[in-house]
Amino acid sequence: MKDMNRRKFFGQLLQLSGALAVMPVLLRSTVAQAEESRGSKAKAGGAALTMVDPKDPVAAAVKYVEDAKKAADSKGNKCSTCGFYAKKEVRNGKEVGTCTIFQGKLVYANGFCNSWNKKQA
Ligand code: SF4
Repeated sequence: MKDMNRRKFFGQLLQLSGALAVMPVLLRSTVAQAEESRGSKAKAGGAALTMVDPKDPVAAAVKYVEDAKKAADSKGNKCSTCGFYAKKEVRNGKEVGTCTIFQGKLVYANGFCNSWNKKQA
């Protein structure tokens, strides 16, 4: 059992380091998008943030899915119970919010990724 936990921990660590490896490139593009968004907000008077695309390199690295039920290892966890999540609004009848990992974008409250971290009470 201890070995399984250790294996899982190192597996997740590997996935996280993969995500961190692509972070600088993505941060640059995210910053550019955020600046672009800010610029268009000023013009349009408040443009909406875009949703994270599960095919985005960082999203793929952490295995983000829009529906936690589709993630075999979610164990009932989802973005809304993650410490990185903050509720933003309801879009098309679904709650969405920001995630520390995906700056400038939104994730679904019912989404999930392998970086899920229990929200502190
Ligand atoms: S880090 Fe948390 S809030 Fe962000 S996508 Fe993963 S599970 Fe959702």
